[in-house]
Amino acid sequence: MMTRSEALFEAAQRVLPGGVNSPVRACRAVGTYPRFLERGLGSHVWDADGREYIDLICSWGPLILGHCNADVEHAVQEAVKKGLSFGAPTAIEVEMAELVCRMTGVEMVRMVNSGTEAVMSALRLARGATGRSKIIKFAGCYHGHSDSMLVKAGSGALTGGAPDSAGVPAEIAGDTLTAAYNDLQSVRSLFEANPGKVAAVIVEPVAANMGVVPPEPGFLEGLRALCDEFDSLLIFDEVITGFRLAPGGAQSYYGVQADLVTYGKIIGGGMPVGAYGGSRKLMELVAPLGPVYQAGTLSGNPVAMAAGLTQLQILSSTPEIYTELERRGAMLQQGLRDALSGIPAQVNRVGSILTVFFTEQPVTGYAQAKSSDLEQFKHWYLGLLQRGVYAAPSQFEAMFLSAAHTDAEIEQIIQAAREII
Ligand SMILES: *Cc1c(COP(=O)(O)O)cnc(C)c1O
Repeated sequence: MMTRSEALFEAAQRVLPGGVNSPVRACRAVGTYPRFLERGLGSHVWDADGREYIDLICSWGPLILGHCNADVEHAVQEAVKKGLSFGAPTAIEVEMAELVCRMTGVEMVRMVNSGTEAVMSALRLARGATGRSKIIKFAGCYHGHSDSMLVKAGSGALTGGAPDSAGVPAEIAGDTLTAAYNDLQSVRSLFEANPGKVAAVIVEPVAANMGVVPPEPGFLEGLRALCDEFDSLLIFDEVITGFRLAPGGAQSYYGVQADLVTYGKIIGGGMPVGAYGGSRKLMELVAPLGPVYQAGTLSGNPVAMAAGLTQLQILSSTPEIYTELERRGAMLQQGLRDALSGIPAQVNRVGSILTVFFTEQPVTGYAQAKSSDLEQFKHWYLGLLQRGVYAAPSQFEAMFLSAAHTDAEIEQIIQAAREII
């Protein structure tokens, strides 16, 4: 008999491309149908057929406190009573901006509605500030779906980009140069081949969209130095790492300061929020103060701000959360390493994000990530799902732990891993 999720997916495919509003959710890489989710609580979710899972996606990162945190929920309910949107300044936007600045060290911030929008706007600002047009990104790093970021350049690390998606004009992709993650020489070569043309280097300080790949010691510091040497701006895309590795994100975790930083995911507490920020000098170039235009009808939406602000307040006032996330992350990493010791596998982790790659080689960049055995991953994913563990249906994503995950649940995940292999 067909499950309710299968029936919903069939209906969905008639009216939504691929049955989904974002492609990975369609589960095509793992050869199954998506489980339609109905509700979540803490570290658990329930699907449309009433099956319960330990949630290792947590909405792809935003829910660092777990589902339905009581304080977040309450703040949203109170905000809803006062009106959903005004398109005018509201007090909560000031409180939110003050807290984001205090936690991250940026001097000014602009709220937008998604990580994609934050990156797109930060790139425009970098180009406006420098009067240059080229951007260096890294193969395997994801920065949302704006035209210029849908480029990873394939094998030729030193060539101008070719688009990854139909519909991206070659002229736009040509301004995106692609370097290799954890390879400073590839960045230097691009700078040297494009003198005076590079507006910014954008990087995920911990790559988490080719699976989790930590920066090697010196890599982020080296990027900082190269950007200074060539008068370019350094942009940290902290849409995942922001407020996850530490209250101050990767900048404080690694002690490297970027010129512009983008946020998303956690900053909205589960609501659609993104943000970009930096020094006062740079941010004052943004409209209405400066010549870099950027706007948004729903930007700073009071209901979204209520969710984000409340979650950030909890994170900033409860630093133990990060110690606990680190401890549980390490516990899961070690448990998975032991469970998978009989097969070629790498368990990469930084803090509370981790990825299991099925390969013999240590995964330090995109090339090694791609060497992972995708059939083995499929077996792994389906095995977890069957045992009540809801993980990302793609090799090239992270597992996200939340403050709501318990030691017992981590043991359950490790036990599932032992059974699968
Ligand atoms: C998710 C993500 C984005 C895009 O954010 P959306 O809210 O999905 O538009 C950008 N950069 C990174 C690093 C991300 O993980």
